[in-house]
Amino acid sequence: MQTIKFHAAIAAVALAFAAPATFAMADDAPVTEAQLADHIKILAGDAFEGRAPGTDGEDRTIAYVVGEWARAGLEPASGSATPWLQPVPFVETQALTGTAKLKVNGRDFALGDDGLILTGRDASVALANVPAIFVGYGIDGTGKVNADVKGKLAIMLFDNAPFGEKLPRYRERRQMLADAGAAGVLVIATDAVPWAQLRESLGSKTVRLASASAGAPVSGFLSIEAADALLTKAGQNSGALRAAAKSRNYRGIALPVSADLSTTSSIRAFTSNNILAKLPGAKPDGKAVLFLGHWDHLGICAPDSAEDRICNGAVDNASGIAVLIEVAKRLGGGVRPDRDIYFLATTAEEKGLLGAHYFADHPVVPLSDITVALNIDTITISPRGTPVATIGHGKPAYDAVVRSVATKFGRKLDEDGEADAFVQRQDGWALGAKGVTSLMVGGSFSDMPLLEKFLEGDYHGPGDNFSDRIPLGGAAEDADLHVALGRAFADTKAWSGTGK
Ligand SMILES: [Zn+2]
Repeated sequence: MQTIKFHAAIAAVALAFAAPATFAMADDAPVTEAQLADHIKILAGDAFEGRAPGTDGEDRTIAYVVGEWARAGLEPASGSATPWLQPVPFVETQALTGTAKLKVNGRDFALGDDGLILTGRDASVALANVPAIFVGYGIDGTGKVNADVKGKLAIMLFDNAPFGEKLPRYRERRQMLADAGAAGVLVIATDAVPWAQLRESLGSKTVRLASASAGAPVSGFLSIEAADALLTKAGQNSGALRAAAKSRNYRGIALPVSADLSTTSSIRAFTSNNILAKLPGAKPDGKAVLFLGHWDHLGICAPDSAEDRICNGAVDNASGIAVLIEVAKRLGGGVRPDRDIYFLATTAEEKGLLGAHYFADHPVVPLSDITVALNIDTITISPRGTPVATIGHGKPAYDAVVRSVATKFGRKLDEDGEADAFVQRQDGWALGAKGVTSLMVGGSFSDMPLLEKFLEGDYHGPGDNFSDRIPLGGAAEDADLHVALGRAFADTKAWSGTGK
């Protein structure tokens, strides 16, 4: 209820432009905690082995989700390569060995075993006599690569460049140097990336989209001590170099250093799948609503000796898939919405939103026709009565729809913007980056202490199991909210489809 009184005429004009149309509330049966619990128990059960992409756990997940969605009345989306599925090709790389033989001014220089970590791009890489260049942050103030690195070993600082706000972070800078033809990229670690942790992560498997650019032939890290020792031996003052690199016009400096680099890696190509379904609209107008959430989790995540080796991903994100199943049942079983509604369960979110990025690059419906994407991730955090926060808020017409629907359920709104800290950490980001209005709506990103308690506790560990400790009340409320949001954004009379 609005508490500010306008002059009547102004109020009428204001309402015509700013107020959301009234959305009819359909008689959808409320989603219950028990319904969500049933799905989460199964999806996060040990039989699903933590739902890692490319495993038996994926096959079981697909069978379960497709079965539930088919029962809900959804159909395979036309345009998907396999009914219900969008196959996503991946490449997995695991470093096996890596050695560097360095020469400074033509003389052998031993770095010490512990100061260097190398990984190769291909199964076997051997490069001889590669000249080294220190490139500072690897970019200049305009965000472009700052030095000629072609065929060279570029040595780069990890930290964010201090001369600009929105400059790329180290992974992107490393890729930019690779794209500029660097034979190798070594990142000088900082205290922010503890060396012991980096050493441990060596040998872990990394996954990228097969279509993504693959990085330099060799990449790796230098410890701070090793970098200082090398630079000193090369006649440089490491502190002075770092200071010079802070200039937005820094162009790097060739070092009297050359390297023989050799690595071996195991490379495996495999295919995982986005699960994709469609609820055809009763009066389709070309616009569509997209619900999404990631089905994958971390799989077997602890060493052989551990008592519990499976990261089951109950909260992250069996909970979101459970909500997507119940939302599909309400929308598929009740009054048929006007517009087409797509349901997407993505793979490899945990590897960097990869399934969502793949869908954004290969959409089965033009991205410009998606009037809104509603992502659901890690939704069992808060109890009933938690206010509704929206990641991606700030478009008034969309915010008005969320406010209108939430208010009808008697829910308060949390508009302090804290939730936006997570905007890059969820699948909606992959679509948002391509211009799709992507929202993540609900209570779990409203109560920050509760969310942080999960993130600092069971998150991404074997403890994220189904149990009575998981609050389901807030998720059930958020599920009802999403049923109503789906109806609102699919309503051709009440929502133009463009946000204008
Ligand atoms: Zn996660």
